Parts: sequence; C-alpha cells; structure tokens
Amino acid sequence: MHIIDTIYIDGAFVTPRGQDRAPLFNPATEQQIGEVRLGDADDADLAVAAAKHAFPAMARTSPAERAAILRRLHEAVAARAVDMFEAMVEEYGAPSGFCGFAVHHAASLFEDMAKTVETYAFRRTIGRAEVSMEPLGVVAAIIPWNSTLGFIASKIATAIAAGSTIVIKPSEMSAIQTQVMANAIHAARLPKGVVNIVNGYGPVVGAALSTHPDIAKISFTGSTMTGRAILTAAARTFKRVTLELGGKGPQIFLEDADLATAIPIALASGFLNSGQACMAGTRLLVPESRLEEAHVRLKAHIETLKVGPATDPEVQIGPMVSQKQWERVQSYIRLGLDEYAVLLTGGEGRPDGLERGWFVRPTVFTHVGNQMRIAREEIFGPVLCVIPYRNEAEAIAIANDTSYGLQSYVLSSNIDHARQVAEQLQAGRVVINAAPHEPLAPFGGFKQSGIGREYGAFGLEAFLEPRAVLS
Ligand code: ADP
Repeated sequence: MHIIDTIYIDGAFVTPRGQDRAPLFNPATEQQIGEVRLGDADDADLAVAAAKHAFPAMARTSPAERAAILRRLHEAVAARAVDMFEAMVEEYGAPSGFCGFAVHHAASLFEDMAKTVETYAFRRTIGRAEVSMEPLGVVAAIIPWNSTLGFIASKIATAIAAGSTIVIKPSEMSAIQTQVMANAIHAARLPKGVVNIVNGYGPVVGAALSTHPDIAKISFTGSTMTGRAILTAAARTFKRVTLELGGKGPQIFLEDADLATAIPIALASGFLNSGQACMAGTRLLVPESRLEEAHVRLKAHIETLKVGPATDPEVQIGPMVSQKQWERVQSYIRLGLDEYAVLLTGGEGRPDGLERGWFVRPTVFTHVGNQMRIAREEIFGPVLCVIPYRNEAEAIAIANDTSYGLQSYVLSSNIDHARQVAEQLQAGRVVINAAPHEPLAPFGGFKQSGIGREYGAFGLEAFLEPRAVLS
C-alpha cells in the first residue's frame, strides 16, 4: 500500500491540515493500492504564502540562473525515469509506449524551457521605451489525471522560466505519480517556496487557489466545464488565466489519402492515451466514396490492437482511470446506439478475456451525423465517430462545426494539399499525417478548447507582463 500523507510546501514535505483521505486504485485490477491524505483551504493558504515569500528573489534571477535551475530539474526528473514509469503504470494504467513517452517528455520539458529562456528577448527597445518582460506574480496550476507528470513539469518549467513561483494542485487520483515528481523536485534543491504542491479536491483546494488574492495567474488543464468555473472565479481579482480544455478533434481523410497507411495513423491519434486525451482525433471524416474501404480497414486494424494492463508491453489501449470514467464512457456508447449511429466495432462492456479492470472495448460508430451528441461531446475514452462527407468544402465545414478547436488532423498523400486544408481549420494545432510533436511550437485551443498557449516562447509569454519605461 502506498500511504501518501504529506504535501510539499516551502521546500519540505509536511502533514496537511486537511483531514480527508482518498483511496488510490490500480485501474487494471480495480484493487486499492494506496491512500492519500488531502490538503484543504488552509494548506492552500500556507502554500501560497510560501510562494509569495519566495517570489521577490525568484523574480530578480537572471535568465541564465533560471536556465540553470531548469537544467537541474531536468536532471533530477530524468534520474527518476524508472520510478515515474512504474508509478504511471500502476496508478494510471496507460500503455507502456505512452508511459515511456510521458516520462521522457516530463524531463525534456525542462530542457526545452531552458533553451527558450536562453533565446527569449526579456528586454527590448521600442522607440524611446525600454520594455522588460516581468514575471506577473505567484502562479497556481490546477491539473488533471491524464498526464500528471507532463503537466506538473510544463507548469513548473514555465513558471521558473518567467521568474515566478508556483503552487500546484494535481488530481487526487494521481497522488503516487505526484509524489515521485515531488521527490525529484526536492532533489533539485530549488530555493524554498519556489515550487509547492498541494494534493486536494478541486472544489476545495482548486477553488481556494482560483479565488486567492495572492495568486496572480492560473494555469489550468482539464475539462471545459471546470475551466469555465475557474475563469469565473478568477475574474473577481482579474487573474491572468491560461486554460487548456477539451477537444473533439477532427481527422480529415482527404480523397487522395492512402487508407492503408492513414487508418493506422488515425487510430493511433484517436486512441491516444487510451482515448483519455484532449488532443485525441475522435471524429474521422471520410469521403463517401471511400467509406466502405475505410470500414473494412478500420475493423481489421482495430482487431490487431491489444487492450489490457500496461504491464504487458504489447498492449496499446489501457483501462480508464476510474470506475466513474468507465461508466461515463459506457453511457456514451449507449448514447450512440440510442442516437441510431451504426456500431462498426466494439460496444458496451469489457473486451473478451478482461473480467476485471476498467477496460473499454475500442469502439467505432459510423454513419454519424455531426449534430449527434457523440460527435459533439468529449467522451474521453476509446470511442470514435466516422462522419461521411461529400466534398472537401463540406469536410472543412464539418471539421470546424464544433465548439472545440484544440488539435485537428489531415491525412493525405499530398503534403501541399494537406497544408491548404490545414490552413482552413479552426484549431490551435493541425497535425498532417504522422508528424511528430514539436516541443517549442505553441499548444492550446481555439474557441472553447481554451485560452492562451503553452510551450516555448508563446507559453512563456503567458506568464509574463510587459513593463515599458519611457525616458
Ligand atoms: P476531471 O473531471 O476529468 O477530473 P476536471 O476538469 O474536473 O476533470 O479536473 C481537472 C482539475 O481541476 C483537477 O485537479 C480537479 O480537482 C480540479 N477541479 C475540479 N473542480 C474544480 C473547481 N471547482 N475549482 C478548481 N479546480 C477544480
């Protein structure tokens, strides 16, 4: 059993004042594997006070000093790669391929931000004005459970790059992964109070941070509904807010796509992180003329995908994080049937041979109308919709006919053609074919997928305020 009964404030692991305890589960077995003691609003206050105390010294650091701190964090996190991998497999259950990426990504985020700090123009002259980019104050980061290591890393990295201090509230479901990360941060010997981590429930610790007068900025990743609550709460004190919210990403198969290669690529994006990813491409837009071929290839490829526990290295789709998420995904599969979408493969219940664990059958509905709820709402599980289209203009219209706009995909054998279509999509990122992640490029959403951008110079600027001195 993992008993996590401390939070990290002012450079030390301390017992929370909060008395609530939450169980921790292995989603592949449904067994309880631990318990976390949660902080409350008083703990949030203490963490903010520590961050506030540490802020002036941090704000005075030079870019070179910040880059050096970021590199120490990079090393400390990279040194714990094995512990992080194991924690992620046990507590979250993502397939080992994804866990491997996530652990590497968590470390490299610090190195990427170090490079950004070294090249970013913190001072510039505009006419007679000397403009300096200043840290805007103490930052709070509120993050979800679907990529805990990376989210903690990216928010800390950006805060430090800006010369800010930070309080992080992770999901209570990720306490084991958080603890490994906290150990790494502690080992990096940062000045006390620069990074503080408070486990706690959203409506308790998250809400306390969202309204706290000493928090200048909130960086939130999570659902659109919670993002709206945080934005509303933050408005009272005009906090700066970065929101990275939900998605319902379209994947447009252009007429010229080679489906033999495009379908496996699209399924990898659609089932990314077992479907528990805001950037997953969950609406497959297929030309009517290619629909039959797409059906055959989708079914055939999905049969080759292994669902199961992450301890099996061949597994490509793991369990849902919790029973609640499992039930939510099941309810959407029922909804698809109620909406008379055609079930191409998958369906309700667990995959054959998996009696325990929050596993979902990889599911594809076809002949889906873009107005159906399964095409409009984020399901956050391995459930995809095939939406047929008649011509390219209609495909683009369907792709953009959503309240979201995070990450879209274009599949084509002609890169110029794909780029032309990409430039018509209302999305913060458009991925053509199997293009890899670009760590310094901005990431974030149009429309209700969020506000602001993360990563690289765009992400850094969202943590800075310009001051112009005129003489
Ligand atoms: P999920 O339901 O998938 O956990 P959420 O968007 O609700 O997604 O959660 C993301 C993060 O937001 C979590 O850390 C959660 O505890 C926190 N959270 C939830 N509700 C609130 C709230 N009212 N105020 C601040 N944070 C919240």
